[in-house]
Amino acid sequence: MPELDIPTAAALRAVRDASRVCRAVSAGAITSVAKSDQSPVTIADFAAQAVVVHVLTAAVHDAVVVGEESAELLRSDDELCAGVVAAARVAWPEADREAVLAAIDTGARRPPPGASYWTLDPIDGTKGFLRREQYAVCLARVDGDTPTIGALACPNLAPVVDVHAASPAGSGIVLVCGASGPVWRGAIEDGPLAQVVIDEQPGVIVITHSVEPEHSRIDRVRAVVERLGTPMLAIPCDSQAKYALVAQGIAHAYLRIPTRPERVETVWDHAAGVALATRTGMRVSDLAGEPLDFSIPPGLASNYGILCAHPRLHADLVRELAALGLSTKP
Ligand code: AMP
Ligand code: MG
Repeated sequence: MPELDIPTAAALRAVRDASRVCRAVSAGAITSVAKSDQSPVTIADFAAQAVVVHVLTAAVHDAVVVGEESAELLRSDDELCAGVVAAARVAWPEADREAVLAAIDTGARRPPPGASYWTLDPIDGTKGFLRREQYAVCLARVDGDTPTIGALACPNLAPVVDVHAASPAGSGIVLVCGASGPVWRGAIEDGPLAQVVIDEQPGVIVITHSVEPEHSRIDRVRAVVERLGTPMLAIPCDSQAKYALVAQGIAHAYLRIPTRPERVETVWDHAAGVALATRTGMRVSDLAGEPLDFSIPPGLASNYGILCAHPRLHADLVRELAALGLSTKP
């Protein structure tokens, strides 16, 4: 078992506790509402943000957390708020309305320029969560322009994924890395961690991409990989669970090709996954092969799309993306 430092251990505890909240909510009918951008948000998104912030800031008092959710919607909807508080109590028994609202808002800060910060997507892949498929609780610390500590809980991801099966569903895993050292993997809610070690050369290329066609040009993703001329298997998967697949060597590449040129990715949708995949030796960049710049949250404004791949494949995929004219905004 590794000796994790205080912030890394707190990040691990935080995403594990939030996973318990998400699982409890998922066991019943899931209350969801539409945000101003029409994307869905559930009581579990809010409760998970509250629990992560509560656990993280208990150990790292000065943490600035750039989270996806804010408490604004809850202050004007008592029923929704009561549901969130009840869900948070699964992992934070003494939580009450004011503490939960305060924790959620503490998780919606923006750091001063250049300062280190934490970024949280309490439920990445809310649409997958609503389908009872893949979703992830994603927490990372960003130092400078780079995610360093990463904690990624995937409550429905199989520890051993059968790439021939229709879905990668299973009993859940958590991945964590500190600011240095290897990536560790464990069961979702508790238990020991084991080091993640990656195989050398893939014979079949396993790729992973979004389930939702509005999130990524899946047809183009497949066209790029086909150009490598190696047999391909695809694992459609919601959320940063895709990074979990690549970071463990289960998949060899995750490509995200925007469906609209104006699309800017957000830090919370990538930071934890990038920290972990980078640490197991994978390469992460935008579609032109340029490093992702996390230095000005919440947007990855200087990057277009995402490519996370095995180091033996990354340069080839950058080349094929360029050949198809997909590296930059159309
Ligand atoms: P996925 O990797 O397909 O599960 O994507 C989940 C993430 O997609 C969510 O966290 C959203 O922030 C993000 N998202 C929402 N709308 C879009 C869009 N039109 N294009 C790309 N990503 C999106
Ligand atoms: Mg998200």
